[in-house]
Amino acid sequence: MKYISTRGGMPPTPFTDILLGGLAPDGGLTVPEAYPQVTRSELGAWRQLGYRDLAFEIFSRFVDDIPAADLRDIVDRTYTKAAFGSDDITPVSTLAPGFHLLHLSNGPTLAFKDVAMQLLGNLFEYALAKRGDELNILGATSGDTGSAAEYAMRGKRGVRVFMLSPEGKMSAFQTAQMYSLQDANIFNIAVRGVFDDCQDMVKAVSNDHAYKARHRIGTVNSINWARMMAQVVYYFKGYFATTTSDDQRVTFAVPSGNFGNICAGHVARMMGLPIARLVAATNENDVLDEFFRTGRYRVRAAADVAQTSSPSMDISKASNFERFIFDLVGREPRVVADLWRNVDGGGAFDLANTPYFAKVRDFGFVSGRSTHADRVATIRRINERYNVVVDTHTADGIKAGLERREAGVPLICLETAQPAKFAETIREALGRDPVRPPAYVGIENKPLRFETMNPDPAAIKRYIAEHAT
Ligand SMILES: *Cc1c(COP(=O)(O)O)cnc(C)c1O
Repeated sequence: MKYISTRGGMPPTPFTDILLGGLAPDGGLTVPEAYPQVTRSELGAWRQLGYRDLAFEIFSRFVDDIPAADLRDIVDRTYTKAAFGSDDITPVSTLAPGFHLLHLSNGPTLAFKDVAMQLLGNLFEYALAKRGDELNILGATSGDTGSAAEYAMRGKRGVRVFMLSPEGKMSAFQTAQMYSLQDANIFNIAVRGVFDDCQDMVKAVSNDHAYKARHRIGTVNSINWARMMAQVVYYFKGYFATTTSDDQRVTFAVPSGNFGNICAGHVARMMGLPIARLVAATNENDVLDEFFRTGRYRVRAAADVAQTSSPSMDISKASNFERFIFDLVGREPRVVADLWRNVDGGGAFDLANTPYFAKVRDFGFVSGRSTHADRVATIRRINERYNVVVDTHTADGIKAGLERREAGVPLICLETAQPAKFAETIREALGRDPVRPPAYVGIENKPLRFETMNPDPAAIKRYIAEHAT
């Protein structure tokens, strides 16, 4: 299996090379040359597999430059009961007949990003050791992504993480989760500014190509193909857990921001998993809902991104969306490159009056949108009816899923975070605090390890140069 760019400007490239790279050299996203196809009889055999065996089967279809025994070892070390709370890794619970939750948030940082990021940590360590290379990951975070990356990379040989976060702008829980890490290869940097200042510093370093190459600067953002691949597994797992035969179809409802999670559902469907619908659920930042309703994809200006109570979906553009559009336009890279010429300039494109838009339905995509009031009402209703507390992002997915489900087709809503991370909105909805997993009780009292810095690209460059040796 080789990988190509959605914009056509990359020769077919092996998995391990795209693993360590970011965007394709032409600015596109990396995708497999073709989706591996899973036959009905293979599907029947996979139904019996535990999470690790299933993950190994799926990854083997996408990775052919890591020996099977090594890949097996990486999978077995990643998806453990110790890291994810159970050997199911992503268990399913049933709220009512045909209405299920797929729990993706039992990893170390209590959000679904762990499922992919934990794998990435082990893949990076493996690939870097093979090459005798190292990597300095530089990122900016307003909370979730940064902590998932740090918990995945802590203690990994050959990898350091330099994570910028806005000083005093994260919740006490989030701050403690990140800054309490004492690992020597994790560097938390509190920037005297806002999230955009952090992001600007990362951009400034990335644009200094000589510096970037000299100091082996890399990223772990959501466009990494290995993250997509890791997420494909739980769509299969969720399907097997809620069906009894391989002719049945299911619908997945997915809280969506950067389109990473739901794009993995699209990949699973392209591989042959019988998915009826993929429901993209957005919050007030409804870039994706607008596209699926109207055909118009309109990137928002940073100033127009609302701060919501499902903050991990507060996005101005959906970074992974280009992968779906590539398939939608018949994998024609010139069409994608044309469309993104507008998008990259902060603009828009409109497929409403093209044959492409009619095809969106053939791919199973529909969408929905929530406001803060919807979120609170959904959390309350799910608690009243089923005695279950869901987080704000999951609530957005449930609302859209219930709106767009079809009679007779099981609905699987993806649980993307634990309510303990979003206590304020849970209090508003239920009048009480969410229960915290035992490992997180008193986390705010742990000793912290971080550096404070002015929002100055030169300062972070100096800091990395001093500490990356
Ligand atoms: C990142 C995140 C999302 C959005 O996922 P995308 O892959 O960006 O669409 C949803 N919920 C939670 C809790 C997240 O952390």
